[in-house]
Amino acid sequence: TSYQSVALIVGITGIVGSSLAEILPLPDTPGGPWKVYGLARRPRPAWNENHPIHYIQCDVSNTDETIAKLSPLTDITHIFYVSWMGSEECKVNAVMFQNIFDAVIPNAPNLKHICLQTGIKHYFGLFETDTKSEPHDSPFTEDLPRLNQPNFYHNLEDILYEETAKRGLTWSVHRPALIFGFSPCSMMNIVSTLSVYATICKHEKTPLVYPGTKASWNCYADAVDADLIAEHQIWTAVEPNAKNQVFNCNNGDVFKWKHIWKTLAEQFGVEMVGYEEGKEQVSLQEMMKDKGPVWDEIVKENKLVPTKLENIAAFWFADIAFMSENLLSSMNKNKEHGFVGFRNSQKSFVSCIDKMKAYKIIP
Ligand code: NDP
Repeated sequence: TSYQSVALIVGITGIVGSSLAEILPLPDTPGGPWKVYGLARRPRPAWNENHPIHYIQCDVSNTDETIAKLSPLTDITHIFYVSWMGSEECKVNAVMFQNIFDAVIPNAPNLKHICLQTGIKHYFGLFETDTKSEPHDSPFTEDLPRLNQPNFYHNLEDILYEETAKRGLTWSVHRPALIFGFSPCSMMNIVSTLSVYATICKHEKTPLVYPGTKASWNCYADAVDADLIAEHQIWTAVEPNAKNQVFNCNNGDVFKWKHIWKTLAEQFGVEMVGYEEGKEQVSLQEMMKDKGPVWDEIVKENKLVPTKLENIAAFWFADIAFMSENLLSSMNKNKEHGFVGFRNSQKSFVSCIDKMKAYKIIP
């Protein structure tokens, strides 16, 4: 095959990386036919094996290893950076991103465009921070100034702007809302987290209790399907009008957790208990802290793909989602620039569950 574009996906097994791995090689993907390289630290998981991609095991926080493994890839035209170190620490996150530039730029003369995925923490600040800074009011728009506090997203953007300006490359920054995806190798997958919670409730014959705040139960929230983010990134990679821009990314609708909760209970056939008046938030992380062996048993009983509770479920992340409100982002700039992709959030939530079931990640 002669390829029109060659992608390097950094974080190929992550929540968006796995969608890119599926969509980029398809024959009708814009900019294609695409040749795809993808990298992550762990060995290639079985559920990823059907995609026609070149899998590279590499720890991009290690400069020598990254240069050794990426410098032979002289045909890269596009980079999709959909990774992070799993902590909000600025320095190592920056080193990971810088290593990609140092390894690819001197060796890939046809490099054209870099997509950087950050997120809406750009507007309300980091989860763990001592520096108190007033969050922006939502709906968030892309032109809002940086908050006056350290944020690794600023470090990543600065590297992106500097490196692309030096080389005359184009770039795009993607700021997704909460992501609905299917990957069991993601450090923050809300759908797998809630599916695992529901599965454990079913196994222990307890109701699916909403642990969050009243405000989070009742307010409008938004999310984005991982496949839609992949489409969004591919759009910026090929569309001249989308170059050198920052874009939010959500499904284009709103939902309420109270409605998703009902869907979640139906999907797993468990009884649900919604928010109860006067109740304070209960930490799901705390509730689930001893459930590792229960999950192991569920995996064994149902002959699931082996996973560990702490890898497949990020209960701390659900705790944050269930105390949040007023985090909606605006898609107006996207529409003004010609991106009109959307998903139905309810259907997106269910389709992620269906996919995890089909791959035997959950029963
Ligand atoms: P995930 O946690 O889903 O995936 C991370 C990917 O990177 C995995 O493939 C992982 O595989 C790989 N990886 C991690 N560390 C390294 C390393 N040192 N070297 C090579 N590969 C590595 O990432 P997300 O998509 O969630 O996160 C990307 C960005 O999106 C972050 O800035 C995040 O804040 C943001 N975001 C995420 C949201 C969400 O709901 N998940 C919502 C909004 C924004 P392996 O572990 O095998 O290395």
